[in-house]
Amino acid sequence: MDVLYRPGEPMPEAVLQTFDTPVLKSFEIRKENFPDEITFYGPGLKPHKTSEFSGSLKEFVSISVTGNNCALNCEHCNTKMLDNMLDLPSFDGSLFDMAKNLQKNGAKGVLISGGSNIQNQVPLLHHIEDMKQIRTELGMVIRVHPGLPDEKTCEALADVDIDGVMLDIIGDQETITDVYHLDASPSDYEAVLDRLGRYGIPVIPHIVLGHYFGKMNGEWAALDIIKKYPLKTLVLVILLPLTGTGMESVMPPSLEEIGDFFETARLSLPTTPILLGCARPLGSMKIKIDQMAINAGLNGI
Ligand code: SF4
Repeated sequence: MDVLYRPGEPMPEAVLQTFDTPVLKSFEIRKENFPDEITFYGPGLKPHKTSEFSGSLKEFVSISVTGNNCALNCEHCNTKMLDNMLDLPSFDGSLFDMAKNLQKNGAKGVLISGGSNIQNQVPLLHHIEDMKQIRTELGMVIRVHPGLPDEKTCEALADVDIDGVMLDIIGDQETITDVYHLDASPSDYEAVLDRLGRYGIPVIPHIVLGHYFGKMNGEWAALDIIKKYPLKTLVLVILLPLTGTGMESVMPPSLEEIGDFFETARLSLPTTPILLGCARPLGSMKIKIDQMAINAGLNGI
């Protein structure tokens, strides 16, 4: 596949025109199925302020139920994603106590996350009663990162009235083995979507473009898995090489590959909201990626 543009290279005129033009078929599908509006979100893990908009990290707060411990040490993360979350084990109180304090300081919702065990399960069962209390007594929005939840966890989460579970869906064995160091297969991810669906839990799957050291290995297969199940929203993110991880110096996929995937996702899921998540390369590449997302008919950024 030809590479249209790599970060750091000058942008050819023909390429610029490509980004500025709506992709007819996918954009038409979007217009047929959604109102003429797009939603822009502020990043949850980074303070931000523009002339029109400012966001506070206090409104939606991420909590790690394991602190920065995780048994997997994935190549793209090496537990770095947990560093920006509140550390529940170091807090003097329960998950409910922490949420109550956060609400006093203006929080409206919490993302309950954490590191995984060796089977990529985040230990949530111990916190289910607190989550129920957060919903019933505080009325806060709850989203959850469960990893690959088992039957018991799905059954318990079904009673919490959560806004959604967010999980990466991986369609490629090499990515599961070499990036996540996980003894699982793509069929395990499909089984989780089936399980969550059976319990009526709103699902917000994520696909990471370039998850295999910058290469697009299993993203199309992940989309094929996802489209068989009812979703609340699909979130597309792009590998963001983090310092201190095994992917520190990896190049993200080309703009052409990213744009193709946006279009295919829109065509595959014509009535499902699709968002571009905040994890994506920065600088001029980010501007082009955002333009492509809009032109391909995604619903929000
Ligand atoms: S399982 Fe999650 S927290 Fe743990 S290293 Fe992998 S991506 Fe990071």
